[in-house]
Amino acid sequence: MVDSAGSAFGLGLAGKQVAVLGVADETSLAWGIAEAFRQHGAVVTIGYQQRFLSRVKALLRDSPEIRGARCDVTNPAEMEAFFAAFASTRLDVLVHAIAYGPPEVFTSDPSAVSAEAFAQMLRVSAFSLGEVTRYAKPHLAEWGSVIALSYQASLRAQPFYGLMGVAKSALEGMVRYLAVELGQRRVRVNAISPGPVASLAALGIMQALLQDRSTLARQRDRVIREAYETASLRTSAAAEDLELASAIWSELQQGVATRCAIEETISKEDVAGCALFLGSDLARKITGQVVHVDCGLSSTILM
Ligand code: NAP
Repeated sequence: MVDSAGSAFGLGLAGKQVAVLGVADETSLAWGIAEAFRQHGAVVTIGYQQRFLSRVKALLRDSPEIRGARCDVTNPAEMEAFFAAFASTRLDVLVHAIAYGPPEVFTSDPSAVSAEAFAQMLRVSAFSLGEVTRYAKPHLAEWGSVIALSYQASLRAQPFYGLMGVAKSALEGMVRYLAVELGQRRVRVNAISPGPVASLAALGIMQALLQDRSTLARQRDRVIREAYETASLRTSAAAEDLELASAIWSELQQGVATRCAIEETISKEDVAGCALFLGSDLARKITGQVVHVDCGLSSTILM
């Protein structure tokens, strides 16, 4: 049996050029995706910011087949240099796994967030998908694939996620508009929307909320309030915020699992599996979509 590209069914990723933006450390969804493509024989380049250079360098040392280069999506020179490296090859898959919002995005009431914080969040978390696509476009191969990372707070208000949910709504809109633009060149654009996974970004949200613990204690969402209460009881009073943030996130993941069709938590490998599919020719007629990797959370109401 053959797929629509005329090949035997299979991912067929060996030798594909893959760029993955948004690696901060080994917990990054971007790193899970980069490793998965490497394991399938793709030639992988990761993009990172200067901030966690020492952590990224350690990852690259342990995975010498993966190349790395700086790519701050607010720095045009870095984006240009990053994608110029694909001029002599081509780019088959581009993964955008980037989000940032100043702490007030998560800690303030939505009506109190400043215009500056909102603009910065949107620029990095949504607009940048269009910007990196602009730099990548001349090098994107026919039937190439662009993949972004969203979150289900794009569809329904999830208070602990603050206005970052609005950035994810904008990101999903970008996916649909870019899909039309790049469809002219037979390049597809999709998003993966995973359930909660422990990562630096996830812990960053919890640490922001811990700045004023009453913010967590009065969350309207029962799952996050209970996660905070349980984690506080289980964690020693002297624990650093990072340890408590990690414990809350872990409790949150367990609590969310109880609301899912499949009562399991999500790992970065689960997300990477979906990225492999969307990056492969098996998904060549799928574009403008948001694929939920969330054990059914977004399609289930379990009160
Ligand atoms: P992560 O490892 O912290 O990844 C976020 C990445 O964005 C970091 O590498 C961060 O770099 C990067 N970034 C921020 N500002 C940037 C800029 N100006 N230029 C370039 N990179 C920048 O966390 P993650 O959880 O894997 O997040 C990856 C994506 O998955 C994000 O879009 C996130 O919203 C999404 N997502 C995560 C979850 C989850 O539960 N973890 C669920 C659904 C969706 P620095 O750390 O150096 O700033």
